Amino acid sequence: MPARAALRPVPSTPLRRTLSQPRPAPEPATPDEVLAAAGDWTPQVIKCRVSRHWWDSHTVYRDRGTGTLEIVEKCARCAKVLRRHVISERTRERLTDYSYTYEDGFLVKDLGRITKAGRVQLELLSLADFPDGDDAPAKAKKAPARKTAAKKAG
Ligand SMILES: [Zn+2]
Repeated sequence: MPARAALRPVPSTPLRRTLSQPRPAPEPATPDEVLAAAGDWTPQVIKCRVSRHWWDSHTVYRDRGTGTLEIVEKCARCAKVLRRHVISERTRERLTDYSYTYEDGFLVKDLGRITKAGRVQLELLSLADFPDGDDAPAKAKKAPARKTAAKKAG
């Protein structure tokens, strides 16, 4: 049953080009508004708000009739956002922009756009529990490069 369902794409959101439908940018949220909203977010949601999502494969719907693939990815960190787009296997072109589906706990009704100033508040919040002098985040970030360096050295 799930395999058959995957052959007939029934997207939960309309898959249309969004270029011709510009939306006015929402007003920016103040840093205080961002901090108030963050009280309801998981640490993972806060990290994704600061440094974007970690997209990972979720589902691919193939429509042999139209020769298209609808590709659905899910954030591997917060697990609250799906991103989808459609490409043509025939023309090897991308047919749609990304569209996003958010689960409960990600979007906040009436919260304005989060600006750089708001992201700084979230970044400070996400690092609030690190003791002084702890350089764990920097080490974690450089870990893959160190592996490569160790291979070269050895
Ligand atoms: Zn995420």
